Order: sequence, then C-alpha cells, then structure tokens
Amino acid sequence: MAAGKVTIPHFTVMYDYSFNSIKINCSALRKNYAFIQQKTGAGVPVMAMVKADAYGHGMVMAAKAFSHAGCTAFGVAELREAVLLREAGIQGDIYVTIGFVEIDAGLFFQYRLTPVIYSYAAAQALSIQAVALGQEIGIHIKVDSGMGRLGIFPPDIPAFADTVASLPGIKINGLMSHFPESDNPAAESTRENFTQFAGACRALKNRYTTLCHIANSGAVLNFPDTWCDMVRAGIALYGYHPAGSDGGEGPSCTALIPAMSFTSRILQVKTVPAGRGISYGHTFRTRRQTTLAVLPVGYEDGFSRLLSNRAKVLVHGHPVPVVGRICMNMCMIDVTGLTDVAAGDEVVLLGRQGQQTITADDIAKEMGSISYEVLCLLGNNNQRQYIE
Ligand SMILES: *Cc1c(COP(=O)(O)O)cnc(C)c1O
Repeated sequence: MAAGKVTIPHFTVMYDYSFNSIKINCSALRKNYAFIQQKTGAGVPVMAMVKADAYGHGMVMAAKAFSHAGCTAFGVAELREAVLLREAGIQGDIYVTIGFVEIDAGLFFQYRLTPVIYSYAAAQALSIQAVALGQEIGIHIKVDSGMGRLGIFPPDIPAFADTVASLPGIKINGLMSHFPESDNPAAESTRENFTQFAGACRALKNRYTTLCHIANSGAVLNFPDTWCDMVRAGIALYGYHPAGSDGGEGPSCTALIPAMSFTSRILQVKTVPAGRGISYGHTFRTRRQTTLAVLPVGYEDGFSRLLSNRAKVLVHGHPVPVVGRICMNMCMIDVTGLTDVAAGDEVVLLGRQGQQTITADDIAKEMGSISYEVLCLLGNNNQRQYIE
C-alpha cells in the first residue's frame, strides 16, 4: 500500500503502515475463555486451540490472553507452532495434534511438548530420543471415532496402545478424538461417535492413566455429557458459535464476544454517471448516477473475491454494498445517498460502527463459508493491533 499524506495514529513510521487494520480485543479473549471454563467447571480443564495463528488472532498474543484467564493447555497443529509458543514463554501443556517428521522427535523433549500419536513410527522415533536422553515422554493417541480424518479406529486402539506402551520411555497419558457435527444439536453422529470414543477410553483406562478428550466448541455448547476429562475449544474462544449465527440463538451463546474487528479507510470518492461498468469484467453496471468509494481492501487482504457484488461494509454507521469484482488490493462500494463521505473516512468491514455490526458469520454467509475461514483470512493477512 503506497504511503500518502494520510495520518494514522499508532503508526509514526510512515512507510510501515497499512490503511487496513485488524484489532484484537484481548479482554474479549479472556472473557470467552473464562465463560467456557466456568461452563465446564473446575474438574474439566479447557485446552485453548491456537492453531492457524489462533484463527487469525495471533497465536502468541492469544495464548497469553488465555494464560491470563487461567489456561494451562494449548493445542496447535504443527510442531513449528508449538516451538514458537514455548519460545514466547507460554507455560503449560502444548499439544501437537497433526503429527511431526520423525527426525524432529527430539524437539518434544527440548521444548516439553505433548505429541499426539497415530503411527507406530512416530512413537518409535520418540522412544529412541527418550532412551538417548534418559527421559520419559507422555503421549496422547488419536482415535478416529467417526470424523473420517486422522487417527486409529477404536477397535484397534487397545493393541496399538499396548505396542506403543511397550516401547522404552513412552508413557500413554491420553486419548483424543474429534466430532464432525457437534455444532448441530440434532445430529445423530455425535452420539454414535461418542459411544465409539467412550468404548476406546474404557479399554485404555483399565490399563493406563489416560486423559480422554473429544469435545470441541460445538460439543462444549451442545453436548455436556461428552466433556470427559478435558475439552478443546477453538471458535468459541474467539467469540463465535460453531454453527454460525443461525445456530447461535441459545442463551449460552450470547455470552461469547467476537474479539476481532477489521477497519480500513476510503481512498477516493467519485461520482459516476449511470450506465458505467465497474471493476474487472464489468460485473456491475451503475443504474443511476452513483457515488462510488474506492477501498484499499482486496482479496490479498483476505477479503475474498467470492464477496464481489455481495459483501456489505459500514460507512458512517450505514451498511453499503460492495459493487463489482473485488480486486487484489482494492474494491469499490456504493455510498450514494450518504452525505459528506470523503477520502480518509473510516470503513468497518468486520465489527461495529455506530448502531450497526458486521460479524464473521455475516461475511461467511456471503461467501458460502464459515466464520473460521473469515477470521483466518482477515486476521492472517493484515496488520494486527491489540487493544483492551
Ligand atoms: C481446531 C480443533 C478444535 C477446536 O474446534 P472448534 O470447532 O474451533 O472449537 C478441537 N480439536 C481439534 C483437534 C482441532 O483441530
């Protein structure tokens, strides 16, 4: 984004700013964590899922906020993320949930990380390191109880566990699975999945002291009897119901506070006559004399091209439509009828302005997706500022 004469507070170095700003409300993150922890109660700890740079909120800052709210367990996808978290000073258990390259097994010892295992090769690599270091490592096993993704099928769990447990230096500390449809209170699959998982848990608990965990945000909100020994919350911690706004009518959901907002500024305002084509492909044509505003927001900034001619943004507290195709770095909005709109005016793409609010669910609906993707796209493609 080219620097102009625009003055933006917080950015004193002129070349180091963007017109676009993601703001993360840290107190919202802490409150959401406290709400979920209060819901599950003291006996059921809440693992904070901070993968994907904490769903776009910034992994380290989000983990610090959750830590301040009492969190002592964190979940990431990859080893690289876990190492970053530990190096940033995050205390507590850090779970690596999708596996690792065997050559990196030593890092689990160096950084005191918890591996989630679904292959004998991974367990063997950890065992070799354990023996070399004269240490023991606690592992969790991944079960596929119906998600159809990563993990070992429930009937194979006891034999797998025994094989792995016989490796020197390996201690089985937990069993985890994942629900495919827990955001829907009416879905039958959650019961069936849980029956499968509970069976595997019983089999293991007879032999090992295992922490069993399967509940994601959907199950935290909809299925209290699946909480087991720990829950793993993601989207709810960032302020959204996993089912989107349609599923978020329950009383438990109004407590969740969206933590992310996204604002930008108008670059140029101009009057365009009727019958003019706007943006690539001229997919929008003005039907009347139109006041057009150009925004420095494009798909490069995570504002998906699928939102072309669909999204609304807030200007002076009013929802106005995006018109024409969203470009790489820019898009156009129709501000006809609003008075005194000028270059430099604030535009809210996600969050509140005046009495109006645009949520990640609103944006997701327009692009045929879910709040999770919207938060990742916007949060991970723009400068973030942290506020209280
Ligand atoms: C991301 C993730 C979660 C959290 O899911 P939400 O629906 O965001 O609560 C839980 N468990 C695992 C293994 C995950 O990857």
